[in-house]
Amino acid sequence: MHSFTYTANPGRILFGFGKLEALGEEIRAAGMTRVLLLSTPQQVDQVQALSDTLGDLSAGVFSDARMHTPAEVTEQALKYLKSVGADGIVSLGGGSTIGLGKALALRTNLGQIVIPTTYAGSEMTPILGETADGVKRTLRSEKVLPETVIYDVDLTMTLPAAMSGLSGMNAVAHAIEALYCREANPVTSLIAAEGVRALTEALPRIAKDPADRAARSDALYGAWLCGTCLGTVGMALHHKLCHALGGAFDLPHAATHTIVLPHALAYTAPAIPEVMARLRETLNTDDPARRLYEIGCEIGAPEGLKALEMPEEGIARVVDLSLENPYWNPRPLDREGLTLLLEDAFHGRPPS
Ligand code: NAD
Repeated sequence: MHSFTYTANPGRILFGFGKLEALGEEIRAAGMTRVLLLSTPQQVDQVQALSDTLGDLSAGVFSDARMHTPAEVTEQALKYLKSVGADGIVSLGGGSTIGLGKALALRTNLGQIVIPTTYAGSEMTPILGETADGVKRTLRSEKVLPETVIYDVDLTMTLPAAMSGLSGMNAVAHAIEALYCREANPVTSLIAAEGVRALTEALPRIAKDPADRAARSDALYGAWLCGTCLGTVGMALHHKLCHALGGAFDLPHAATHTIVLPHALAYTAPAIPEVMARLRETLNTDDPARRLYEIGCEIGAPEGLKALEMPEEGIARVVDLSLENPYWNPRPLDREGLTLLLEDAFHGRPPS
């Protein structure tokens, strides 16, 4: 056994069907008396109905959460939170709504109860990305980590099939890199392998039948585990490449992750024999990178970065960027290998 450091994040987790019913009880147990409910404009009806059922426990609804947590939206929400005298935050939605809740917790020290409705996993991380003046900055702080998370599978039944597949594979990417990042440790690796197993088995079933309740339950369970990985360890080549691609060409986050993941794993594979053995078992295959590529096809992922309208000459730019500012990976970065990786990802080919 190698030496390691493991830091567990605190948090109370409720998981299952119909768990939303426990919200009132959880609000009281957390010592809150009047909570501000958050959502995106798309989920306002759902959150308004929740506010109605909470009665006096609800201080009001702020339903203007947006992608990338813009600072001006946070300021509006903060003003509203103060005006209604809320003493707790309840976020219902995906990473965008949860990001707003975290931004408010950072500024007020109020507790958060989070009810995730996607597979993005932000609820399990002390990470917050905020955008101000067109620049996105990421911070890590214990202050933004939610105290209570209610996973209610029923709320995920409406997540469209395409978004389910892509956001699920984005979560899988967190767990795969957790297995070989610098901070990898045996406890996080147990969680990661189980998260990969649960999600990779469930996502193709959801693609076939989005109303499959057992598959939805397995996927949300896997998303929780994969989010836990992102919250407890760092990441490696795959995440850095996706960040560079997203930043340079404004590519959609989850689709980029889904396309790049098999290739980043194939690139790193020669340096991580033990992780590859574990993944062969977890994914029940001789070729884990190829299996991740096949799952991408099964969930209807776009066929390569070219389908996301990335320009082909962008490959050389991203390789240059990566080599200029090299980051740690079990297999060090080299021009030839990275170029092949990105060419395969660009054309939508199986990993080399
Ligand atoms: P999202 O929160 O942006 O949601 C996308 C849309 O889907 C929204 O309109 C939302 O209202 C709707 N939606 C959510 N759940 C639904 C459901 N069950 N049924 C129908 N519609 C639903 O999407 P996301 O992928 O969850 O989050 C993306 C954001 O989260 C990005 O900004 C990303 O950077 C951030 N993120 C942060 C972390 C972190 O640790 N800080 C982790 C993962 C993602």
